[in-house]
Amino acid sequence: MDVTAMTKKELMELIELNRDEPSSELLNEAASVRDKVYGRHIFVRGLIEFTNHCKNNCLYCGIRSANTKVHRYRLTKDEIMSCVKEGTSLGFSTFVLQGGEDLYYSDDVLADIIYSIKEYAPGCAVTLSVGERSYESYKRLKSAGADRYLLRHETASEDHYNMLHPSSMSFRNRIKCLYDLKNLGYQVGAGFMVGSPYQTSANLADDLLFLKELEPHMVGIGPFISQADTPFRGEPDGTLESTLTMLALVRLMLPRTLLPATTALGTIDSHGREKGFDAGANVVMPNLSPSDRRKDYALYDNKLCTGAESAEKINDLKTIIENAGYIMDMGRGDSLVNSEQ
Ligand code: SAH
Repeated sequence: MDVTAMTKKELMELIELNRDEPSSELLNEAASVRDKVYGRHIFVRGLIEFTNHCKNNCLYCGIRSANTKVHRYRLTKDEIMSCVKEGTSLGFSTFVLQGGEDLYYSDDVLADIIYSIKEYAPGCAVTLSVGERSYESYKRLKSAGADRYLLRHETASEDHYNMLHPSSMSFRNRIKCLYDLKNLGYQVGAGFMVGSPYQTSANLADDLLFLKELEPHMVGIGPFISQADTPFRGEPDGTLESTLTMLALVRLMLPRTLLPATTALGTIDSHGREKGFDAGANVVMPNLSPSDRRKDYALYDNKLCTGAESAEKINDLKTIIENAGYIMDMGRGDSLVNSEQ
Protein backbone atom coordinates (compact mmCIF):
# COMPACT_ATOMS: atom_id res chain seq x y z
CA MET A 1 0.00 0.00 0.00
CA ASP A 2 1.34 3.45 -0.87
CA VAL A 3 0.61 5.44 2.25
CA THR A 4 2.63 8.41 0.97
CA ALA A 5 0.09 9.07 -1.81
CA MET A 6 -3.03 8.79 0.35
CA THR A 7 -5.49 11.57 1.02
CA LYS A 8 -6.55 12.46 4.55
CA LYS A 9 -9.79 10.55 4.05
CA GLU A 10 -7.96 7.43 2.89
CA LEU A 11 -5.57 7.64 5.83
CA MET A 12 -8.48 7.97 8.25
CA GLU A 13 -10.07 4.85 6.78
CA LEU A 14 -6.82 2.92 7.08
CA ILE A 15 -6.36 4.08 10.68
CA GLU A 16 -9.91 3.09 11.61
CA LEU A 17 -9.59 -0.28 9.92
CA ASN A 18 -6.43 -1.11 11.89
CA ARG A 19 -6.97 0.75 15.16
CA ASP A 20 -8.19 -2.16 17.26
CA GLU A 21 -6.08 -4.81 15.53
CA PRO A 22 -3.28 -3.88 13.15
CA SER A 23 -3.35 -6.25 10.18
CA SER A 24 -0.34 -8.51 9.77
CA GLU A 25 -0.03 -7.17 6.23
CA LEU A 26 0.46 -3.64 7.59
CA LEU A 27 2.95 -4.72 10.27
CA ASN A 28 4.95 -6.91 7.90
CA GLU A 29 5.15 -4.24 5.26
CA ALA A 30 6.37 -1.69 7.81
CA ALA A 31 8.98 -4.10 9.18
CA SER A 32 10.24 -4.96 5.72
CA VAL A 33 10.52 -1.28 4.75
CA ARG A 34 12.59 -0.73 7.92
CA ASP A 35 14.73 -3.79 7.09
CA LYS A 36 15.44 -2.42 3.61
CA VAL A 37 16.67 0.93 4.93
CA TYR A 38 18.30 0.07 8.27
CA GLY A 39 18.53 -3.71 8.32
CA ARG A 40 17.70 -5.45 11.59
CA HIS A 41 19.69 -3.00 13.74
CA ILE A 42 18.12 -1.56 16.87
CA PHE A 43 19.92 1.63 17.90
CA VAL A 44 20.39 2.31 21.59
CA ARG A 45 20.41 5.81 23.13
CA GLY A 46 21.25 6.66 26.73
CA LEU A 47 18.49 8.80 28.22
CA ILE A 48 19.39 11.26 30.97
CA GLU A 49 16.32 12.85 32.56
CA PHE A 50 18.21 15.73 34.09
CA THR A 51 15.45 17.95 35.47
CA ASN A 52 11.79 17.55 36.31
CA HIS A 53 11.22 21.23 36.98
CA CYS A 54 8.91 22.64 34.32
CA LYS A 55 7.31 26.01 33.70
CA ASN A 56 4.61 24.50 31.50
CA ASN A 57 1.35 22.99 32.59
CA CYS A 58 0.47 20.43 29.88
CA LEU A 59 -2.74 18.72 30.94
CA TYR A 60 -1.43 15.19 30.35
CA CYS A 61 1.99 15.43 31.93
CA GLY A 62 2.90 14.31 35.45
CA ILE A 63 5.64 16.93 35.86
CA ARG A 64 3.35 19.84 34.92
CA SER A 65 3.99 22.96 36.97
CA ALA A 66 0.70 22.74 38.89
CA ASN A 67 1.49 19.28 40.25
CA THR A 68 2.63 19.99 43.80
CA LYS A 69 3.11 16.29 44.57
CA VAL A 70 6.22 16.00 42.41
CA HIS A 71 9.50 15.79 44.22
CA ARG A 72 11.47 18.20 42.02
CA TYR A 73 15.13 17.65 41.22
CA ARG A 74 17.87 19.02 39.00
CA LEU A 75 21.10 17.24 38.15
CA THR A 76 24.29 19.26 38.46
CA LYS A 77 26.79 19.27 35.64
CA ASP A 78 28.93 16.81 37.62
CA GLU A 79 25.98 14.45 38.06
CA ILE A 80 25.21 14.63 34.34
CA MET A 81 28.86 13.97 33.53
CA SER A 82 28.80 10.90 35.82
CA CYS A 83 25.86 9.55 33.81
CA VAL A 84 27.79 10.17 30.59
CA LYS A 85 30.89 8.47 31.98
CA GLU A 86 28.89 5.46 33.10
CA GLY A 87 27.16 5.36 29.72
CA THR A 88 30.44 5.56 27.84
CA SER A 89 31.87 2.67 29.84
CA LEU A 90 28.73 0.64 29.05
CA GLY A 91 29.31 1.31 25.35
CA PHE A 92 26.78 4.10 24.65
CA SER A 93 27.65 6.65 21.99
CA THR A 94 24.45 8.72 22.03
CA PHE A 95 23.20 10.71 25.00
CA VAL A 96 19.76 12.27 25.20
CA LEU A 97 19.38 15.11 27.68
CA GLN A 98 15.68 15.36 28.41
CA GLY A 99 13.86 17.52 30.89
CA GLY A 100 11.02 19.85 31.66
CA GLU A 101 11.23 23.45 30.51
CA ASP A 102 13.49 24.57 33.33
CA LEU A 103 14.79 28.13 33.11
CA TYR A 104 17.66 27.26 35.44
CA TYR A 105 19.33 25.67 32.41
CA SER A 106 20.12 28.85 30.54
CA ASP A 107 21.94 28.75 27.22
CA ASP A 108 25.23 29.25 29.06
CA VAL A 109 24.60 26.41 31.50
CA LEU A 110 23.44 23.99 28.78
CA ALA A 111 26.18 24.98 26.33
CA ASP A 112 28.80 24.29 28.99
CA ILE A 113 27.31 20.84 29.67
CA ILE A 114 27.12 19.96 25.96
CA TYR A 115 30.66 21.14 25.40
CA SER A 116 31.95 19.04 28.29
CA ILE A 117 30.15 15.92 27.06
CA LYS A 118 31.67 16.38 23.62
CA GLU A 119 35.09 16.94 25.14
CA TYR A 120 34.79 13.75 27.19
CA ALA A 121 33.33 11.59 24.40
CA PRO A 122 34.26 13.31 21.11
CA GLY A 123 32.59 10.88 18.72
CA CYS A 124 29.27 10.73 20.54
CA ALA A 125 25.99 12.30 19.50
CA VAL A 126 24.29 14.71 21.92
CA THR A 127 20.52 14.96 21.68
CA LEU A 128 18.56 17.63 23.50
CA SER A 129 14.91 17.43 24.50
CA VAL A 130 14.20 20.51 26.55
CA GLY A 131 11.17 21.99 24.87
CA GLU A 132 10.52 25.29 23.14
CA ARG A 133 13.31 27.85 23.02
CA SER A 134 14.18 30.75 20.76
CA TYR A 135 15.92 30.43 17.40
CA GLU A 136 18.96 32.14 18.94
CA SER A 137 19.01 29.66 21.80
CA TYR A 138 18.79 26.64 19.48
CA LYS A 139 21.58 28.18 17.41
CA ARG A 140 23.80 28.66 20.43
CA LEU A 141 23.24 25.08 21.62
CA LYS A 142 23.98 23.77 18.14
CA SER A 143 27.29 25.60 18.06
CA ALA A 144 28.10 24.19 21.50
CA GLY A 145 27.94 20.75 19.87
CA ALA A 146 24.35 19.49 20.09
CA ASP A 147 23.56 17.21 17.14
CA ARG A 148 19.92 16.30 17.55
CA TYR A 149 16.74 17.66 19.12
CA LEU A 150 13.56 15.87 20.14
CA LEU A 151 10.43 17.99 20.32
CA ARG A 152 7.22 16.09 19.83
CA HIS A 153 4.59 18.17 18.09
CA GLU A 154 2.09 16.27 20.33
CA THR A 155 -0.74 16.70 17.81
CA ALA A 156 -0.83 18.34 14.39
CA SER A 157 -4.36 19.72 14.83
CA GLU A 158 -4.45 23.15 16.43
CA ASP A 159 -7.87 22.63 18.05
CA HIS A 160 -6.75 19.32 19.54
CA TYR A 161 -3.49 20.91 20.71
CA ASN A 162 -5.52 23.50 22.58
CA MET A 163 -7.46 20.75 24.38
CA LEU A 164 -4.22 19.23 25.67
CA HIS A 165 -2.41 22.42 26.66
CA PRO A 166 -3.15 25.58 28.65
CA SER A 167 -3.87 28.77 26.71
CA SER A 168 -0.38 30.06 27.55
CA MET A 169 1.05 27.50 25.12
CA SER A 170 0.89 27.92 21.37
CA PHE A 171 0.60 25.27 18.68
CA ARG A 172 2.10 27.61 16.11
CA ASN A 173 5.15 28.29 18.21
CA ARG A 174 5.78 24.58 18.68
CA ILE A 175 5.63 23.99 14.92
CA LYS A 176 7.86 27.01 14.34
CA CYS A 177 10.41 25.54 16.77
CA LEU A 178 10.51 22.31 14.75
CA TYR A 179 11.20 24.19 11.52
CA ASP A 180 13.79 26.40 13.27
CA LEU A 181 15.59 23.29 14.50
CA LYS A 182 15.56 21.77 11.03
CA ASN A 183 16.85 24.96 9.44
CA LEU A 184 19.69 25.07 11.94
CA GLY A 185 20.84 21.63 10.84
CA TYR A 186 19.76 19.55 13.82
CA GLN A 187 18.58 16.00 13.26
CA VAL A 188 15.05 16.61 14.47
CA GLY A 189 12.57 14.35 16.19
CA ALA A 190 8.85 15.14 16.20
CA GLY A 191 6.09 12.86 17.45
CA PHE A 192 2.82 12.44 19.27
CA MET A 193 0.91 10.38 21.81
CA VAL A 194 -1.58 7.80 20.61
CA GLY A 195 -4.92 7.77 22.42
CA SER A 196 -4.58 11.16 24.08
CA PRO A 197 -7.89 12.60 25.30
CA TYR A 198 -10.21 13.89 22.55
CA GLN A 199 -7.98 12.46 19.77
CA THR A 200 -9.86 11.45 16.61
CA SER A 201 -8.74 9.47 13.59
CA ALA A 202 -8.82 12.78 11.67
CA ASN A 203 -6.25 14.11 14.16
CA LEU A 204 -4.06 11.03 13.60
CA ALA A 205 -4.34 11.40 9.82
CA ASP A 206 -3.26 15.03 10.25
CA ASP A 207 -0.28 13.81 12.28
CA LEU A 208 0.78 11.57 9.39
CA LEU A 209 0.37 14.35 6.83
CA PHE A 210 2.25 16.80 9.02
CA LEU A 211 5.13 14.33 9.44
CA LYS A 212 5.26 13.78 5.70
CA GLU A 213 5.68 17.51 5.21
CA LEU A 214 8.19 18.11 8.03
CA GLU A 215 10.20 14.98 7.20
CA PRO A 216 11.81 14.63 10.62
CA HIS A 217 14.84 12.42 11.20
CA MET A 218 13.07 10.75 14.13
CA VAL A 219 9.48 10.25 15.24
CA GLY A 220 8.67 9.49 18.89
CA ILE A 221 5.30 7.79 19.28
CA GLY A 222 3.91 6.24 22.44
CA PRO A 223 0.53 5.58 23.98
CA PHE A 224 -0.95 8.25 26.23
CA ILE A 225 -0.93 6.93 29.81
CA SER A 226 -2.92 8.81 32.42
CA GLN A 227 -1.17 10.21 35.46
CA ALA A 228 -3.07 10.42 38.74
CA ASP A 229 -2.12 14.01 39.62
CA THR A 230 -3.12 15.60 36.31
CA PRO A 231 -6.50 16.82 35.00
CA PHE A 232 -6.51 13.73 32.74
CA ARG A 233 -6.49 11.30 35.67
CA GLY A 234 -8.88 8.45 34.96
CA GLU A 235 -8.86 9.03 31.19
CA PRO A 236 -8.39 5.78 29.26
CA ASP A 237 -4.84 4.95 28.20
CA GLY A 238 -3.87 4.59 24.55
CA THR A 239 -3.76 0.97 23.47
CA LEU A 240 -0.92 -1.24 22.32
CA GLU A 241 -2.77 -2.01 19.09
CA SER A 242 -3.44 1.58 18.05
CA THR A 243 0.16 2.54 18.88
CA LEU A 244 1.51 -0.31 16.73
CA THR A 245 -0.78 0.78 13.90
CA MET A 246 0.55 4.33 14.06
CA LEU A 247 4.18 3.15 14.29
CA ALA A 248 3.68 1.06 11.16
CA LEU A 249 1.98 3.91 9.29
CA VAL A 250 4.75 6.36 10.20
CA ARG A 251 7.34 3.83 9.02
CA LEU A 252 5.52 3.54 5.68
CA MET A 253 5.12 7.31 5.42
CA LEU A 254 8.79 7.98 6.24
CA PRO A 255 10.85 4.87 5.42
CA ARG A 256 14.15 6.52 6.41
CA THR A 257 13.13 7.97 9.75
CA LEU A 258 14.31 6.60 13.09
CA LEU A 259 11.44 5.26 15.14
CA PRO A 260 11.79 4.47 18.84
CA ALA A 261 9.89 1.72 20.60
CA THR A 262 9.20 4.03 23.53
CA THR A 263 9.22 3.48 27.28
CA ALA A 264 5.47 4.17 27.27
CA LEU A 265 4.96 1.28 24.83
CA GLY A 266 7.03 -0.97 27.09
CA THR A 267 4.95 0.22 30.05
CA ILE A 268 1.52 -0.75 28.67
CA ASP A 269 2.65 -4.19 27.48
CA SER A 270 5.45 -6.38 28.81
CA HIS A 271 6.50 -7.17 25.23
CA GLY A 272 5.63 -3.72 23.91
CA ARG A 273 9.13 -2.94 22.69
CA GLU A 274 9.53 -6.15 20.70
CA LYS A 275 6.07 -5.68 19.20
CA GLY A 276 7.17 -2.16 18.32
CA PHE A 277 10.20 -3.52 16.44
CA ASP A 278 7.91 -5.82 14.50
CA ALA A 279 5.84 -2.75 13.53
CA GLY A 280 8.90 -0.98 12.09
CA ALA A 281 10.53 0.65 15.15
CA ASN A 282 14.34 0.59 15.41
CA VAL A 283 15.45 2.62 18.44
CA VAL A 284 15.34 2.11 22.21
CA MET A 285 16.26 4.66 24.85
CA PRO A 286 17.15 3.04 28.17
CA ASN A 287 17.49 5.23 31.22
CA LEU A 288 20.92 6.45 32.34
CA SER A 289 19.64 8.85 35.00
CA PRO A 290 20.79 8.26 38.60
CA SER A 291 18.55 5.44 39.84
CA ASP A 292 17.33 7.33 42.93
CA ARG A 293 15.88 10.11 40.72
CA ARG A 294 14.06 7.98 38.19
CA LYS A 295 10.82 7.61 40.13
CA ASP A 296 10.53 11.41 40.24
CA TYR A 297 10.47 11.75 36.45
CA ALA A 298 6.95 10.36 36.42
CA LEU A 299 5.37 11.71 33.26
CA TYR A 300 2.68 9.02 33.63
CA ASP A 301 1.75 6.28 36.09
CA ASN A 302 3.83 3.08 36.40
CA LYS A 303 6.53 4.37 34.04
CA LEU A 304 9.18 1.68 33.56
CA CYS A 305 12.66 2.60 34.71
CA THR A 306 14.16 -0.68 35.83
CA GLY A 307 15.09 -3.96 34.15
CA ALA A 308 15.90 -3.68 30.47
CA GLU A 309 14.62 -0.08 30.59
CA SER A 310 17.69 0.88 32.63
CA ALA A 311 21.06 1.32 30.98
CA GLU A 312 22.99 -0.68 33.57
CA LYS A 313 20.96 -3.72 32.49
CA ILE A 314 22.17 -3.34 28.93
CA ASN A 315 22.80 -7.08 28.71
CA ASP A 316 19.15 -7.83 29.49
CA LEU A 317 18.16 -5.43 26.73
CA LYS A 318 20.59 -7.13 24.36
CA THR A 319 18.98 -10.49 25.12
CA ILE A 320 15.49 -9.11 24.49
CA ILE A 321 16.60 -7.56 21.20
CA GLU A 322 18.38 -10.71 20.03
CA ASN A 323 15.57 -13.04 21.09
CA ALA A 324 13.22 -10.89 19.02
CA GLY A 325 15.48 -11.46 16.00
CA TYR A 326 17.33 -8.13 15.90
CA ILE A 327 20.88 -6.82 16.38
CA MET A 328 21.66 -4.36 19.17
CA ASP A 329 23.66 -1.43 17.77
CA MET A 330 25.45 0.89 20.21
CA GLY A 331 26.81 3.15 17.45
CA ARG A 332 25.68 6.74 16.85
CA GLY A 333 22.94 5.47 14.57
CA ASP A 334 22.56 8.62 12.53
CA SER A 335 19.30 9.06 10.67
CA LEU A 336 19.32 8.25 6.96
CA VAL A 337 16.72 10.93 6.24
CA ASN A 338 18.25 13.26 3.64
CA SER A 339 21.13 10.88 3.01
CA GLU A 340 21.83 9.15 -0.28
CA GLN A 341 23.19 5.93 1.25
N1 SAH B 1 9.81 19.17 27.96
C1 SAH B 1 10.25 18.43 26.81
C2 SAH B 1 10.23 16.95 27.07
C3 SAH B 1 8.86 16.45 27.34
S1 SAH B 1 8.70 14.85 28.06
C4 SAH B 1 9.40 18.83 25.62
O1 SAH B 1 8.57 19.72 25.77
O2 SAH B 1 9.60 18.31 24.55
C5 SAH B 1 8.68 13.85 26.61
C6 SAH B 1 7.33 13.43 26.09
O3 SAH B 1 6.63 12.64 27.02
C7 SAH B 1 6.35 14.52 25.74
O4 SAH B 1 6.65 15.13 24.54
C8 SAH B 1 5.01 13.77 25.72
O5 SAH B 1 4.63 13.40 24.39
C9 SAH B 1 5.30 12.52 26.55
N2 SAH B 1 4.36 12.44 27.69
C10 SAH B 1 4.11 13.36 28.63
N3 SAH B 1 3.10 12.97 29.43
C11 SAH B 1 2.70 11.76 28.97
C12 SAH B 1 1.67 10.84 29.35
N4 SAH B 1 0.85 11.10 30.37
N5 SAH B 1 1.55 9.69 28.65
C13 SAH B 1 2.38 9.41 27.62
N6 SAH B 1 3.35 10.25 27.21
C14 SAH B 1 3.51 11.41 27.87
